Order: sequence, then C-alpha cells, then structure tokens
Amino acid sequence: MSKRNSTIRGVVAIDGPAGSGKSTVAKLLAERLGYIYIDSGAMYRAVAYRVMQAGLAVEKDTAEIGRLSGELVFEFRPTAPGQHLFVDGEDVEAAIRTPEVGNLSSPVSAIPEVREHLVAAQRRMAARGGVVMEGRDIGTVVLPDADLKVFLTATAGERARRRWVQLQEQGIIEDYEQVLRDQIKRDQRDSSRAVAPLCKAEDARELASDDLSPEEIVTMLEGWLKQSLSKGDKS
Ligand code: C5P
Repeated sequence: MSKRNSTIRGVVAIDGPAGSGKSTVAKLLAERLGYIYIDSGAMYRAVAYRVMQAGLAVEKDTAEIGRLSGELVFEFRPTAPGQHLFVDGEDVEAAIRTPEVGNLSSPVSAIPEVREHLVAAQRRMAARGGVVMEGRDIGTVVLPDADLKVFLTATAGERARRRWVQLQEQGIIEDYEQVLRDQIKRDQRDSSRAVAPLCKAEDARELASDDLSPEEIVTMLEGWLKQSLSKGDKS
C-alpha cells in the first residue's frame, strides 16, 4: 500500500453515457481541485473529424483509419472561452461538436487500433496525476488504478434534453426527437461493441444525476476523493 495524503494529486475517472452530465461535472471538479481536465470523447470525435476530412469510410478503410489515429498529436490547451482540443496544432473544438461528427465517432471508436492509440495517449496525459478524465472506459480500461471512479447516469429522456440544450447553445438547431434517436443508437453501439464497451467498473461509485445539481455532485466527488487519498486505499 502506497503512502498517500491529501496533498497528493490524484487521478479521477468519470464514465457514463452521453448526456449523463459527466463533462460538466468533470470540468467543474478539475477546476475546483486545480487538476487537468481530459475529455477523452473529444479525442474520438477528432479522429472521426479527420476521417470525414480525408473522405474515408469506416467499413472499408479500417486499417487506414487505425494508422491515421496513431499519427495525430492531441493537446488540450486553455483558450479564452475554455479548454479546447488541438490536433496537430489546429483548434478543432468547434468542428468536433457537430451531430455528424458525434454520430461518426461511435463506429470510429469501435476500431481496436484507434482505441489502442488513444488509450496510450490518454495514459500518457494522466501519468503525472492531478487529472480528471471522463469517457466510457476510463475506470475499466484506461485508468483502472484511479483514486476515484465514478459512473454517472441519468434517464434517456433527461440526457437527450440536456444534449439538445447544449446543441442549441452552440447554435446547432436539431429536432429533440432526432437527438433522442441518435443518442439511443449511440448508447446501444457503445454498450454492445466488442472492445471496451460502456460499462461500470466493479469498484466505481454509481450516481444518478437527474435530481442533483453539478455543484452537489462535485461536492460529493471531492469528499470521496479526499477519503480515498487520505486512506491510501484506491477502492
Ligand atoms: O463523450 P462524447 O459523446 O463526446 O464521445 C463521443 C464518442 O466517442 C462516443 O459516442 C463513444 O463512441 C466514443 N468514446 C469512447 N470511449 C471514450 C470516450 C468516448 O468510445 N472513452
């Protein structure tokens, strides 16, 4: 058992389906703790964006997409409106948030070689601690030794409503029913794929976010992390 105390910069893994509130919570928690925030979904979206730009097709260009994903240089940089993802020095934040890229990111993320490259990049980013990473497989695959693992959920209707509001805020007008349909399809694919499907790590704390504010959730998470770090016990 390693000797740990509250001054040690821990590692937090937050997983959950789209719209569960994990991005809001992860960002806020990282801010409060002075940790780095890593949105792993943004990295899969960026690969999908590059696939679109290159005119590749997921079904037939699998090997090329795998190769391409290993050549990309990912960097999260602070910018005036907030943290943005840069790929090979280009700010791709706006481009990766469209519904088209979101939909394509799901089949792209099911390609084993893409996952291998991105998981390796994510582990390098977390190597020095002081990190809140969110995604689908962070607690199960990327950072199984995280000091705190959380699996955030919410009902499908509430998650689609949140995504719809988020898209509107970005100036993207979509029909709510369409957002719900896309989300259900993406959830099914993310949960049933052969490699790193979305599932709760055995030792993750499960939390339903429907009736809790992001601040309330973050306060709970902070308490759990402090407990875990002071115990030197990762369970
Ligand atoms: O979280 P976000 O919706 O931006 O993620 C986009 C897509 O990336 C998801 O639908 C999922 O297919 C994939 N993803 C993943 N593993 C992660 C994060 C995201 O497969 N750790």
